[in-house]
Amino acid sequence: MKLFVYDAQRLGVEATDATIVDLTDLVPLHTEPKERMNALIRAWDSVRDEVARRSARGGGAVRSTVTVRAPQPQPRNLIAAPINYHKHQQEMGGGSGVYRDRPILDVTVRIGFFKAVTSIVGPDACIQLPMPDRRFDHEAEVGVIIGKETRGVSEAEALDHVFGFTPLLDITLRGEEDRSWRKSMDTFTPIGPHIITADEVPDPANLDFWLTVNGQVRQKANTSQLIWSIARLVSEYSQVVTLQPGDIIATGTPEGVGQIVPGDSVTLTIPAVGELTMPVVSRA
Ligand code: MN
Repeated sequence: MKLFVYDAQRLGVEATDATIVDLTDLVPLHTEPKERMNALIRAWDSVRDEVARRSARGGGAVRSTVTVRAPQPQPRNLIAAPINYHKHQQEMGGGSGVYRDRPILDVTVRIGFFKAVTSIVGPDACIQLPMPDRRFDHEAEVGVIIGKETRGVSEAEALDHVFGFTPLLDITLRGEEDRSWRKSMDTFTPIGPHIITADEVPDPANLDFWLTVNGQVRQKANTSQLIWSIARLVSEYSQVVTLQPGDIIATGTPEGVGQIVPGDSVTLTIPAVGELTMPVVSRA
């Protein structure tokens, strides 16, 4: 199923007739609007049959008449994998790399970092670059949504704790500031347009994806090339952080990372998951 957040933070599912059917009443009435996806994921075992019925029935809002927001605006944790593809490691270091004067340590050493949850935006927004004289890069990533409280799971158990997937951009300021600071600015984590539930993604270890800027392909890879697979990331992080329902993991970006400037249009396509297009602007 494809789950949406739309208009005034309403929950929806894409129906078989391609309309968006409202699910907002399936979470407690007084749930803070940005917490609704967390509440839906927590309640999933008891509401999924009803969501499937509504999806089959259809008769919701026509997609073009609603404003699609970030499908998970307020996770408790937004964890990201550093250097998780070998060819991206090579392009960051080496003779022509961005950081050629230092060793580029991969995920097996750096493990993970946290991005600010407030950096999340959806396809209704723009990527805003806050400094005119600095370099900002796109990073195409597969976003993982955690389904239940997850502590100390093995790699073999890990995918049972994954709720779904979403296209995710990890926008990055290059420079000497701390990594979490450079990647946490407002609008620096676009996700969406929907979460696809894990039952509809048969093999997360074999997902093709690519990113274009103004129609030109910049990044193209497959999750089979990950240094730490999605299952390994969930397992490793859960050994020391109790992952919460609705938490997001950014799984790392492949080679081809490059600069974005105001006026660009960035599109991330993961055929088995979804497609996200974001315009780039200068922050006023
Ligand atoms: Mn990244």
